[in-house]
Amino acid sequence: MEFIDLIKSTLIFRTIILFVFGLCIGSFLNVVIYRLPIMLNNIWKKECQEFLDENIVIEAEKFNLSYPSSHCPSCKAKVPFWSNIPIVGFLILCGKCYKCKAKISVRYLFIELLTGIVFACVGYVHNDLLLIGFSLVFFSILIALIFIDFDTYLLPDELTLPLVWIGLLTNLNGAISGSLKLAVFGAVVGYMSLWSIYWIFKLITGKEGMGYGDFKLLAAIGAFLGVTYLCNVLIVASLLGIVYTVYLRVCGKSQRGDAIPFGPFLGAGAIMTFFCGNYFINVFLLV
Ligand SMILES: [Zn+2]
Repeated sequence: MEFIDLIKSTLIFRTIILFVFGLCIGSFLNVVIYRLPIMLNNIWKKECQEFLDENIVIEAEKFNLSYPSSHCPSCKAKVPFWSNIPIVGFLILCGKCYKCKAKISVRYLFIELLTGIVFACVGYVHNDLLLIGFSLVFFSILIALIFIDFDTYLLPDELTLPLVWIGLLTNLNGAISGSLKLAVFGAVVGYMSLWSIYWIFKLITGKEGMGYGDFKLLAAIGAFLGVTYLCNVLIVASLLGIVYTVYLRVCGKSQRGDAIPFGPFLGAGAIMTFFCGNYFINVFLLV
């Protein structure tokens, strides 16, 4: 009880505890980001197999979040338990496999740190434990979606749909959006705005500008933040998307017509809006 009271009442204690907790969840998210798309792929292949009555090669029959245990992709050596300790494991290993010295992506470290910082910031701005709990679940799923979309161009229903419900549940009393009504409108407007843009673009050009996962992700963000913040999220997402596209073009890493995932920028826009409010839209209005 004392521990809970301490978390509720002491800002610095709450922030540090949530930072460390965020590092651990970030470590788990690294597993989800890598393994969930492979697991879904296997499920879809099995469904195709049953539907078409054909033999489709499934790489690993048994593959889930806990099996096989973590191993080096280069030499297949099992990752020692202590190396799973967030940040510390990476630093002790100097970012290399302990056996074959193959480089470990610095992105693992980045995702752990990002989750830790986001969790700490949630603890900094809120002290209601239920609200903190909902927000942490929301941001954990959001971070997983950002990187899954970045890697695979997929925003799985298995994550986007629960995110909509979590967004609405968080706002039963309007804790973040202001009222439940604003959260419900946020979900509807979030989905319909991108859906409309998708169909207008498709009717004019005959091409698909984005995926249905983007509509569901923005619906979830609208449910969580409320309809009044959606414009800000879209402005930040579009700006980041433009900067990233220009960067890829300048570096020669993409060509005209290449697809670029929109989910990571929607996610980044949601995180920035949660902490900064309508800051960006206000800057636009002033300009
Ligand atoms: Zn290795």
